[in-house]
Formats: sequence, C-alpha cells, structure tokens
Amino acid sequence: MALIVQKYGGSSVADPERIKNVARRVARYRKQGHSVVVVVSALGDTTDDLIELAGKITDCPSKREMDMLLSTGEQISIALLAMALHELGCDAVSLTGPQVGILTDASHMRARIVEIDGRRVREELRRKRVVIVAGFQGMDAQRNITTLGRGGSDLTAVALAKALSADTCEIYTDVEGIYTTDPRIEPTAIKLERISYEEMLEMASAGAQVMQSRSIEVAGKYDIPIHVRSSFSDNEGTWIVKEDRSMEDVLIRGVSINKNEAKLTVRRVPNKPGVAARLFRRLADDGINVDVIIQNIGRSAATDISFTVPAGEADAAVRSLRGARKSIGFTDVSKDTNIAKVSVVGIGMRSHAGVAATMFEILAKKGINIEMISTSEIKISCVVARADGERSVRALHAGFNLTKRSHARR
Ligand code: ASP
Ligand code: MG
Repeated sequence: MALIVQKYGGSSVADPERIKNVARRVARYRKQGHSVVVVVSALGDTTDDLIELAGKITDCPSKREMDMLLSTGEQISIALLAMALHELGCDAVSLTGPQVGILTDASHMRARIVEIDGRRVREELRRKRVVIVAGFQGMDAQRNITTLGRGGSDLTAVALAKALSADTCEIYTDVEGIYTTDPRIEPTAIKLERISYEEMLEMASAGAQVMQSRSIEVAGKYDIPIHVRSSFSDNEGTWIVKEDRSMEDVLIRGVSINKNEAKLTVRRVPNKPGVAARLFRRLADDGINVDVIIQNIGRSAATDISFTVPAGEADAAVRSLRGARKSIGFTDVSKDTNIAKVSVVGIGMRSHAGVAATMFEILAKKGINIEMISTSEIKISCVVARADGERSVRALHAGFNLTKRSHARR
C-alpha cells in the first residue's frame, strides 16, 4: 500500500459541496488501504479576502500579523475537511503547520521551509488516520506563525512528500492538467502527459499559473514526480517529472502568455559605465522584480532603457526611479501597461536550431509587432501589444504544430 500526499487547491474546496466531494475522494483512497496525507488551501478566495480586510485597517500591516491573519484561512479548511471525513466514517485528524512541525526561517509572508519534523504525521498514520495538513503555513524558531508565499500550499505538499518519502504527490486543481497552452484561449490545446520540471518552471514564469514556482523548484531538486490533476474527475492528469531523452524530441512543449507585466521606459539615460548598475540596483533594493530588459543603441551621450516588471509593481518602480532621476541623470520614465508577453517553452530547443527565427516568422506573418525579446536555453519570450497577445498565442500554437497529439504524448 502506498503513502500518498494529495493537495487540494482553494477552488477544490470552495464550498461545502466541494469539501464533501474532496472527502469522498480521500475516503476512497483510504478504503483501498493507502496512507493518505491531505494538504488543503483556504476556501475559494479566502486569502484574497483576508488581505483586503487587512487593507481596511491599515496600508502597511505588520508582516507578522499578516501571517497570523492569513494562516486562519487554511485552518478553516482543514477542520471542515476533517468533519466531512468523519461524516463518511473515515478517521481523520487536522493539523496546522506548526503542529506538524513545519519549521521555517523568519521571513514572514515568504518563509522558506528549513525542516519538517514528520513524527506527528507518521504517528497519526500509524493510527490509521487520514492526516489533514494546513497548507501554506509553518512556524519559525521563535514559534511565530509564518506563511510560504502565495500559492504556498503546493510547497507544503511537495515538502511533505519529500519529508515522508511518499510514493506519490498529487496536486488537485480545477483543470485536468497542464496544457500546451491555455485552453480558454486556444480550444484545440492538448493536455500534456508529461512535462519536465524545468519546462514547468519556465511556463510558470511565463504566466501559466498552475503551481507555485518554488514548489516546482523543490520537486525538481529532490526529483519528486508530481501528478497535476482535476479534483472533479478521475482522469489522468499531467506528470511533472525529470526530463529524459525522448522528451527532447519535441521542439516546443507549450505556449504561454503573461498579461500581468508592464513595460517601463527610462529615457535619455547617460551612456556611460555604471549607470545601468545603479538603475537596477535601485529597483532591486526596493524589492522590484525586473524581467525582460532592452537597451537601445546609444547614438549620442544618452540612451533609452526599457524593461518589464510585474504589473502590480509598476507604480512602485516608477516612483522608485523618479526619486533617483537627478542622481542617475535620465530625463523621464514612462509606463505602458498595454503589453503581453508570449513565450514558447521546450527542452527540445537545446538540440534544435532556428526556433527563434520560426517564432518571429509566425508572428510576422500575422502582422504582429515584437516590442521586446528575451531568451533562455529553453524559452523564447516576445513582448507584444496587449491586443495582439491572444492572437499571438493562437498563431504560435498552430505554427509550432502543437495540436498534433504525438507532440503531447512524448
Ligand atoms: N491560500 C494561499 C493562497 O491563496 C495558499 C494557497 O492557496 O496555496 O495563496
Ligand atoms: Mg493555490
């Protein structure tokens, strides 16, 4: 019999009916004789609601108190799920992150897991109980409650699977798995049978938000295969696994789109050593994450630099730079939120040439203008006008033949 870690996201436990549905699924695995550890997120949009609530009290809440507040969301779901399992005659116990012994560092709201003491969970499993663990939370060495960053329940599940040497780690969500692209944009998108950790990470950074990036990193580091699947069906989902040779045969695994970035342009930046360093150091010190960067050719003493940041950080970035306008010596900084970043991802790029050229040709044929380009070993991203975003995705999906089943299967 196997030890299974299952994680259910907020949409899978959004209301009492759905919680009962999850309980039935968990009970079924338990009846088959498996040991089951269940990690749950907060109900539906609870975490967002709690953040909004805090915003009604203060503009700058203490991070420690935010963790105290946000961790309550998951505490509601574990208790309700335990009750639903009891209703089905299935022995179950709910535990918070601290009760499980999920020890983290002290960086509130984005804590890292340092260690998991699996003893309590193992003890409960020995008693034949289903163990329900609150996702997203832990405690630091001073016993302060911490949270692991948005989407952190995924990380709880992966880290628990590692700590308990689980046989399987299943991530239940409201979609059937990982697709070649967002099926809402391209209905012919195909569910992938497998995707490598690295590809999944690139897809996530490019806008495909199925799992928290850090959880994928950790899964990759320890080689923990993850099964992403739907809590509303019994269909096989997508396995996130270590890459093997055959996976390189496919040129492009998927196309993703990120509409949550803004482009900033800093005009007439002095064209001399050390200026870019100062500009981006300033942003880094203010905690702003910069993505694609281009610097135009300096024809004179000054040049323009454009870069993208998460849309939510754009105003802060503008403010941060304006404050340094005199010391850095540029004339102006402007913001463009009307952009989308489309990316093609695949480990096959490592061994195949010409992917970038093909991507640009596909976009050119549709008359789509590329504003910025960035590449990694297994990803090419183009920033285009927001209005061209979905059209670009559809063109690339068709142009790289992703609708052909054989591609998804390998
Ligand atoms: N409830 C938390 C969030 O919304 C954690 C999670 O869902 O994984 O970010
Ligand atoms: Mg989530």
